Amino acid sequence: MTSPLDTLVRGLDPDSVGAAMHAFAAELQPIPRSLTGDGVRATLAKIGERIRLAVHEVPTGTPVLDWTVPREWNLRAAWVKGPNGETVVDAAHSPLHVVGYSVPVRARLPLAELQSHLRSLPEHPDWVPYRTSYWRETWGFCLPHCQRETLPEGEYEVLIDATLADGALTYGECFLPGETAREVLISTHVCHPVLANDNLSGLALATFLAERLATVPRHHGWRFLFVPGTIGAITWLAGNEEAVARIDHGVVVANVGDPGGFHYKRSRRCDAPIDRAVPHALADLGEAVRVEDFVPFGYDERQYCSPGFDLPVGSLTRTPWGRYPEYHTSADDLTFVRPEALAGSLRAYLAVAAHLESNARNGAYSRYRNLLPKGEPQLGRRGLYGTLGGTTAGRERELALLWVLNQSDGRHDLQAIAERAAVPFETIAEAAEALLSAGLLAPVD
Ligand code: ZN
Repeated sequence: MTSPLDTLVRGLDPDSVGAAMHAFAAELQPIPRSLTGDGVRATLAKIGERIRLAVHEVPTGTPVLDWTVPREWNLRAAWVKGPNGETVVDAAHSPLHVVGYSVPVRARLPLAELQSHLRSLPEHPDWVPYRTSYWRETWGFCLPHCQRETLPEGEYEVLIDATLADGALTYGECFLPGETAREVLISTHVCHPVLANDNLSGLALATFLAERLATVPRHHGWRFLFVPGTIGAITWLAGNEEAVARIDHGVVVANVGDPGGFHYKRSRRCDAPIDRAVPHALADLGEAVRVEDFVPFGYDERQYCSPGFDLPVGSLTRTPWGRYPEYHTSADDLTFVRPEALAGSLRAYLAVAAHLESNARNGAYSRYRNLLPKGEPQLGRRGLYGTLGGTTAGRERELALLWVLNQSDGRHDLQAIAERAAVPFETIAEAAEALLSAGLLAPVD
């Protein structure tokens, strides 16, 4: 049976959707995002024109888990002028030129002293690096290394006109209710200025995914978070213990617009339903995906998968962070992000959504406990054995009964049992139904 969500996956027109996603990324690109501040608000306002977004403001100083919501940073101007009054760099040309969260400064200083506040990339002399200093008070500028090498001796003038003051941390949340209380979490960061793959692609994907899921019936509630990296996820987790308990599956979205192939990073649990659903859904689409184990670094899966939460949250990307040279530089721009890659990523996420939704509906994630786990229960006496004796179908059905009984220790769901047994899911589901009616199984939670 084809669900409305399956129809969305199949009906997705990559050309028009890819162009629209790329255009949306371009619309968001000039907004000067940071961990906090008006750039985040303006970004969320644009996203809110497409999906129903609740914008939360959490005041500076609020304790969140082991952290504290920081002061809010807003930049008005930042530039460096050379000995002859010429502009060396100006944040008006690109927010990458100023180290994010720089403290305000107005000073005249010799080149030697300025050098300690400059950042550049000798290995990519034409690119401007992206640097921040959220948790240490300092200031700095970023520029192409080739330009840095030509700076003449003399006295330089620097200005960073910024406020770093009590305010708020801003994040966006879009909740699409489902038929059940169980939820899927989709989380993406909203804190990088300019960078296209490492930010705009994730923002576009999460927005377009929410826009589409809003139009179909949903088993799960779908919760989309647009949060500043690390502190945003921590802030959300600190304030939402109830919603946390309802999360059955989650994916952290980032780096979904580069031309590379798909990578899926498993949740800390490694064998959560999401860890099986993503490779399955992509295989069904004919997309190759490289599956990697959980490591406690990366994006906000670090927070969702911290042991006190241990949420079933993985991360589906194209090329993972740090593995492409353009990462965290001015070369991560809108030419690096391709419309067709964005559309392909949206299709992959929709396919994962379709997989999660249909598996929840048909009980693939249901887990049972064998009520007579010592030895095999006598199936013949209960009329479960041999009615189709000798036929292939009969043999497969018996095998399914034995697999379900053997694996139903409360840890393996029906989908996992079907995979391990290499028996069609429907046969496993029927076997579970029969064992349940015979009083040999009890559902777990
Ligand atoms: Zn990043």
